[in-house]
Amino acid sequence: MRNKVSFIWLRRDLRLEDNAALYHALKGEYPVIPLFIFDKNILDKLEDKTDQRLSFIHQQVRSISAILKEKSSGLLVKYGSPDQIWNELSEEFDIQSVFTNHDYEPYAIKRDIEIGTLLKNKGIIIHSFKDQCIFEKNEVLTDAGKPYTIFTPYAKKWKWKLNDFYLKPYPTGSYFNHLFQFESPGLISLEEMGFKASEFDFPINQVADELIQKYSDQRDFPSIKGTSRLGIHLRFGTISIRQLARKALETNETFLNELIWRDFYMQILWHYPKVQNGAFKPAYDNIKWRNNEIEFQAWCEGKTGYPIVDAGMRELNATGFMHNRVRMVVASFLTKHLLIDWRWGEAYFAQKLLDYDLSANNGGWQWAAGCGTDAAPYFRVFNPTLQTQKFDAKLEYVKKWVPEFLDFGYPKPIVNHEFARNRCLETYKKALDEYLNG
Ligand code: FAD
Repeated sequence: MRNKVSFIWLRRDLRLEDNAALYHALKGEYPVIPLFIFDKNILDKLEDKTDQRLSFIHQQVRSISAILKEKSSGLLVKYGSPDQIWNELSEEFDIQSVFTNHDYEPYAIKRDIEIGTLLKNKGIIIHSFKDQCIFEKNEVLTDAGKPYTIFTPYAKKWKWKLNDFYLKPYPTGSYFNHLFQFESPGLISLEEMGFKASEFDFPINQVADELIQKYSDQRDFPSIKGTSRLGIHLRFGTISIRQLARKALETNETFLNELIWRDFYMQILWHYPKVQNGAFKPAYDNIKWRNNEIEFQAWCEGKTGYPIVDAGMRELNATGFMHNRVRMVVASFLTKHLLIDWRWGEAYFAQKLLDYDLSANNGGWQWAAGCGTDAAPYFRVFNPTLQTQKFDAKLEYVKKWVPEFLDFGYPKPIVNHEFARNRCLETYKKALDEYLNG
């Protein structure tokens, strides 16, 4: 006889504590099997077979497995496409319901609709919960019921709406005795999925109170470890956003604002999925990008002759991280100095950033290119030299990543700043004028 069970399907919520869907599953009638699927539809598109993010996910899956084993349960780990896996599981078990957390990216939405239909046709209900943000979709709207497209009023309403209810943890630990007792089979290795495992020093999923207290004063200086480095954990749900937001609320409003930016861009992508492929402000799709491939390559490799830009790109290539201030500088440089389509830069970041998140990355790139929801006006072109004087005055960051920047062999600037600035202003102005005049 097949066992009557419920499933909790983990995706970008790789933790057992304070997890909304897991909590609701455990409170239900049937013993719960935790499941993770290495999704072939996603993995097959990853060109880099040494992608560190896969190692990170594998590590987390291993650690969840080990914790569940201590509770005489386990994590069922599958490799394949979700529809195939759910078809197989529904043969193997008498599934009563499936619990999961909302996922807002376009691929995930499509996947969840398909799996929802597949399960429904088998008489299985899927229950989905908010977990990865504090406020989602339609929870923070203007008084007229419209989505906000400017951050400041959004953040004001967000804070106005916040109360303990939204920050309350889900006490999953009290219900672990409702887990299905079974011996989980061994875990598939990265090699078996065509990837290469690597030893990598990922940031930990904790942040010192002191760092958050000093966040406002230190966050802009790339040579200081003044930001939380929690991006990868927020991306894969290895830290609870509620836990972090409670801390931020008690400690530092500037840090809280960063978490609100995250919610902001998530709801933008939800309401305006067109931003995935085009400018939020359509006039900007009229810009004639130069898209010089040699210059793009120099930017990717950190060989533009602008030390702060090169330092940022080299930090990214070497570590999968780049400081926020420098992300703004390199993105502005690519789009405005080199007039290369922001989507090229966005795609490069998507390959390299450990904390890559479609909504935040897209928001950041459109902001830098001037075409986004809350964008810097296009005529504000970052001057890399002034940015360096302001935020890396002792050149500590530059020297760390571009030690040869004073040497003879270091490339000459790829383009003159004043020339590039004027070319950018002319190009943008022409595109916007043409758009306006039909
Ligand atoms: P902290 O400064 O400690 O902030 C804490 C958390 O708040 C971050 O981990 C992140 O989840 C959130 N956050 C902070 N700033 C922003 C922001 N501007 N927008 C949205 N969320 C924010 N962030 C990503 O998480 N993924 C991306 O792919 C990404 N791409 C970016 C691309 C560009 C061009 C720019 C300008 C910014 C991008 N950001 C992205 C935002 C920001 O740079 C990173 O979140 C931050 O640098 C991560 O470092 P941290 O974890 O130490 O952040």
